[in-house]
Amino acid sequence: MKVTEMKVNELAGYAYDCACQRTHKVDIKSVVIKDNAIIDAVNFINGYTDGKVMMICDENTYRVAGKEIINKLHSAEAYIIQERNGLPISPDESYIGEVFVKIPKEVDLFLAVGSGVINDITRQISYKMNKEYVVFGTAPSMDGYASVTSSLIINNIKESIQGQCPVAVFADSTILQEAPYDMITAGFGDVIGKYNAIREWQFGRDMNQEHYCETVVSLVMNAVKKCEDNAANLKKRDKAAINNVMEALILAGMTMGMYQNTRPASGAEHHIVHYWDVDCIRRGVEHPLHGNSVGVGTVIICQLFELVKDHLPVKVMEIDGDKIRKTLQSAGCKTSPVELNISRELLKQSLLKGHTMSSKYTVLTYLSKENPALLEEAAKQICNIYYD
Ligand SMILES: [Zn+2]
Ligand SMILES: [Zn+2]
Repeated sequence: MKVTEMKVNELAGYAYDCACQRTHKVDIKSVVIKDNAIIDAVNFINGYTDGKVMMICDENTYRVAGKEIINKLHSAEAYIIQERNGLPISPDESYIGEVFVKIPKEVDLFLAVGSGVINDITRQISYKMNKEYVVFGTAPSMDGYASVTSSLIINNIKESIQGQCPVAVFADSTILQEAPYDMITAGFGDVIGKYNAIREWQFGRDMNQEHYCETVVSLVMNAVKKCEDNAANLKKRDKAAINNVMEALILAGMTMGMYQNTRPASGAEHHIVHYWDVDCIRRGVEHPLHGNSVGVGTVIICQLFELVKDHLPVKVMEIDGDKIRKTLQSAGCKTSPVELNISRELLKQSLLKGHTMSSKYTVLTYLSKENPALLEEAAKQICNIYYD
């Protein structure tokens, strides 16, 4: 079978010498997304270790999956992270420290039951304790399940911190189907952002002879198209459409591991979102779910490309920004920065300074260096679309 036709569960544990001259390896041993996946997760874990399993979850994820899982594991303990003052749990040093002091010493395997934040906290703690971890995903909300890094907030700064990928990822289709809808739209937004990630990887290749892998790109794009084709079914909470989003998210995470770089999954759309998030953290206010911002960021970066593409030294991939916006809308996603409470000034600054968020070469890097006047003018025009 061709690698590009392999499904996410078939790619688990796979290694191959690619035509791009690199060897790509998937360290995750197993990916299971199906009905009754709790049974699969329990059987996997009970067969994997005789030692103590430390489950990390929150009250909601304990209720929807954690309770049943822990009752079926041979030897396990749970730590249920509580919200503080009605604010959502955050992947910061305070919560990481809390979990760290509350867990016993003799843990053999960690189990994260939850989505982004629980996965990030568990990844970081297990990695630092030299233990493996398994994740049971409860919402198709972001592409970090299969990733090796965690996005943590340390000293009020959002940082991408080295960690490890889980040994296995499980998700129960019925639990995913019943996830809060804004988590489903977030996952879909993070998936749609891959369009621009790939466009900018090609931009980096054409501008700077950056290494590029057709195989990885095909894997990502096939998964994205499958989600896109079923976008309107998400609102109906169609099980197959929601499973597609979860598969695409796990695959995107996997490709970052296979390629040892985030090129396959993020570009300027992520950099402006990062800029918005930093602003929220600095002001002490909650920022929107990552993928809900990435969807809006993708619409904006498509508008930017539309305004500047004829002035770029290389021809870039054509993406129909209007179609992207309509697809996002049909899935119930937000498509305007106004809906995310982003001010005109913040949007403008994020376009002008978004390139400082990462060393990755994007259209923002090019424009800020080579044609700042054009960037300034384009930023102004984009702001005029959304604000009076
Ligand atoms: Zn390759
Ligand atoms: Zn993302």
